[in-house]
Amino acid sequence: MCIKFITLCHKKLKESPKKVKCDLSVNDIETTEKIIIKAIHVKAFKQEILALRSGRMDSKRSVLLKLNPQIDSDGVLRVNGRLKYAQLPEEQRFPALLPKESHVTTLVIHHFHEKIKHQGRGMTLNEIRACGFWIVGGSSAVGKLIGKCVTCRKLRAPAKDQVMAALPEDRLAITPPFTNSAVDYFGPHNSFHYNLANTYKVIG
Ligand SMILES: [Zn+2]
Repeated sequence: MCIKFITLCHKKLKESPKKVKCDLSVNDIETTEKIIIKAIHVKAFKQEILALRSGRMDSKRSVLLKLNPQIDSDGVLRVNGRLKYAQLPEEQRFPALLPKESHVTTLVIHHFHEKIKHQGRGMTLNEIRACGFWIVGGSSAVGKLIGKCVTCRKLRAPAKDQVMAALPEDRLAITPPFTNSAVDYFGPHNSFHYNLANTYKVIG
C-alpha cells in the first residue's frame, strides 16, 4: 500500500484526482513483490550482486556459486538452472533467490505451508519452488518452521501409550506344551478353545 500511495502521489501531480483509482492491481502486487525481493537481495547477497555485475562470480566462498545465479532485467537475483528451454512460466524456470535467514523468507514458507494444508517438508519446499522462489538451504529452513508449527505438532503428535493390565492367571500357569489349544473360526463363531488337560482327565 505504501508503494501504491507513492505511485498515486506521482499520478495526482499529472492527472485529476478523480481519475486516479486506489484499488490494488495485479501489476501493483507483482511490482511490490520485486521491490521487496530486491531489498532482501541487497542486504543478504550484496557481495554476490557486486561480483555478478563486475563479471567476477568465481568466489568459492559464495553459497550461491552452485546455483549459477543471474540478475534479470528487473534487477532480481535468480537461479539459472537447466530449465531454460522448458515450457514453463519464467518464475519456475528461473526462481528468485531468497536467503535462509530472513523475515520475508519465514513469511513465504509460512504462507505456502498453510496453502498446502500443513503438508510435510518436501511438499512445502516443492510448492515454494513451483511458485517461483528458491530458498538457500531451504530444506532445513522449512523443517525448522514445521517443527515450530502448532497445527503440525497437534496433527503429528504420537498416540499416548496405555498402561497394560496384568496378564490373566491361566496365561501365566506353567503347563506342558499344547495343554491349551485354540482354533480360529469365521465371523459368526468365536474361537474354539480346547483344553487338552481336561480331556485327559475325562479319558483317564
Ligand atoms: Zn504446519
